[in-house]
Amino acid sequence: MKVYISADMEGITGLVDAEDVQPPGRDYERGRVMMTEDVNAAVRGAFGGGASTVLVNDAHGPMRNLLPDLLDPRVTLIKGRPKPMGMIEGLTPEYDAVVCVGFHARAGILGVLSHSFMGHEIEDIWLDDRPVGEIGLLHATAAAYGVPVALLTGDDTACAEMTAWDSSVATVPVKFAKDRFAAQLVPIAEARSAIETTTQTALREPRATPTVSRTSHRLTVRWQNASVASHLPAIPGVTRTDDRTVIVDAPMPDLYRLFCLFLRVATAITSNHPYC
Ligand SMILES: [Zn+2]
Repeated sequence: MKVYISADMEGITGLVDAEDVQPPGRDYERGRVMMTEDVNAAVRGAFGGGASTVLVNDAHGPMRNLLPDLLDPRVTLIKGRPKPMGMIEGLTPEYDAVVCVGFHARAGILGVLSHSFMGHEIEDIWLDDRPVGEIGLLHATAAAYGVPVALLTGDDTACAEMTAWDSSVATVPVKFAKDRFAAQLVPIAEARSAIETTTQTALREPRATPTVSRTSHRLTVRWQNASVASHLPAIPGVTRTDDRTVIVDAPMPDLYRLFCLFLRVATAITSNHPYC
């Protein structure tokens, strides 16, 4: 069994503030250790659950957060940016399951460090007219590859968002949101133990393989900055519906790749990198 892990940071055990997850934040270096240890817990669970290989994609901000020398030596790591597929770089139909570690709720939700890909630069995203964030777009793209999502860790609001997309995905809440920068934490050892055991259990359970589909989907993105929306229609197929909103129709995974290109354009115009 081949397992793919996408590792974000806002939903990592013990982390609640931008200072914890963005360099050069006061506790960022400590946050990197915490992120690596949550991923290691999922990796132990994956191998315990029958994985033969595990690929980890560092999916947060600079995408150079995980500490390779502290990472479980059995895994292969994708590190750095930019990557054409961003948070799901390296995921292919060859994988049997996706595990999401350290995820957060979409923009506008009262979850810990909630946002969608670019903080304040993206006000909202819709997939087929349904509000979507990083969790839903990952799930839809993995499904297009025929790969089920087995597990997600994060705060309780990220877990609820995952469950709303797919109730068959196991979730591990490692903290309970009190506000966007405050949470009641699950004790660290307890959280890591839950990540390991739930990953192991989730991978051992039989899981339906999504039907691979080339059905076209509509992505709608509402930006804060009208300049971003004014540039994107230069890409064939992209239409602007008002000063700040663009739409495009395409099948997955093409749509995800195109959205990653949107992020590159927005970065060039606003000088703000995606921090996912
Ligand atoms: Zn992130």
